[in-house]
Amino acid sequence: MKAIPYRQYAQTEPVTKAQPLVTVIIPFLNEADVLNVCQQRVCDALSQLHQYCEILYIDDGSQDDSWALVNQFTHPLHQIRCLRLSRNFGKEAAMSAGLKASTGRCVILLDADLQDPPEYIPAMVEAWENGAQVVEMQRRERHGESWMKRTTAHCFYRFMSKISDHQITENVGDFRLMDQKVVNVINTLPERTRFMKGLLAWPGFTRKILTFDRDPRLAGNTKWNYAKLIHLALEGITSFSTKPLRWATMAGITTSVIAFIMALVVFAKTIIWGDPVAGYPSTMLIILFLGGFQLLSIGVLGEYVGRLFIESKQRPLYVLMEDTIKQPTFHPMDT
Ligand code: UDP
Ligand code: MG
Repeated sequence: MKAIPYRQYAQTEPVTKAQPLVTVIIPFLNEADVLNVCQQRVCDALSQLHQYCEILYIDDGSQDDSWALVNQFTHPLHQIRCLRLSRNFGKEAAMSAGLKASTGRCVILLDADLQDPPEYIPAMVEAWENGAQVVEMQRRERHGESWMKRTTAHCFYRFMSKISDHQITENVGDFRLMDQKVVNVINTLPERTRFMKGLLAWPGFTRKILTFDRDPRLAGNTKWNYAKLIHLALEGITSFSTKPLRWATMAGITTSVIAFIMALVVFAKTIIWGDPVAGYPSTMLIILFLGGFQLLSIGVLGEYVGRLFIESKQRPLYVLMEDTIKQPTFHPMDT
């Protein structure tokens, strides 16, 4: 990796006008317990790059001391920027705010709870310097996550890859590096229902996969529960594929064909053999089956209409309340 000594770098152009090599985007919600360690470990990792970088914290409506904490962070060599959303808009919106505000030549998305170890940053940047425009971090192990979460996550990734038209690499979360070009494309995607795994995969570009072991959370609790995960899964499916609508149509056609054949059989049996028409249980079964099926299809349709409704309102994805930029505190003139 080519390292430009900071001093030489600062002499050629004013630090404030220089473009950071990397922007590390860290969205957080009530993470006061971990932010100090997070800042420390991210700075340690960035110091190995020997280049001017940017750390971008996005407070997604925290209720604890997180905002006050990140606002105190400064660094001798790097710019630290803190954005505060006016309320909790969700991690997806917070990440989108970060991607819009980022100025680095490449961007890394990182969780504040240190489940994505910042120590991998130099390796990711190296892969990018060697030509990869997207460096995806694939989880080898998911420490500290239950068997149930691992299995459901695995099934979800497989299902999504099957139904969406572009590749979503299995076991790759938001922890990844993206070239500025890729970020610019993602910033032009206008949808409000933001299924980030899909959006991040959509632009394509040359990619490289690195594997890592996902650590358990440093402190605090996950912000996810099964209701939220089901919501996320439904959002992912309906924002990236219209296949469920097609399935409803196909199933409708299949049941109609079966019903028609059954009608012919019943008709023939009655006319030819004079059989009495089968009674109550079979009628009930068919009515219940069709009723259930119709409700399901209407539900699927409703999901898509709901998406259209939300998109048609054209509301902003997030509202920024505060934006503070702390320039590097080291000045070459000081020495
Ligand atoms: N997060 C956020 N907004 C939310 C929920 C989570 O910014 O509404 C942040 C959270 O603080 C953390 C990251 O997103 O830095 C991942 O969240 P979490 O650890 O709860 O998810 P998990 O790792 O369990 O999937
Ligand atoms: Mg986490």
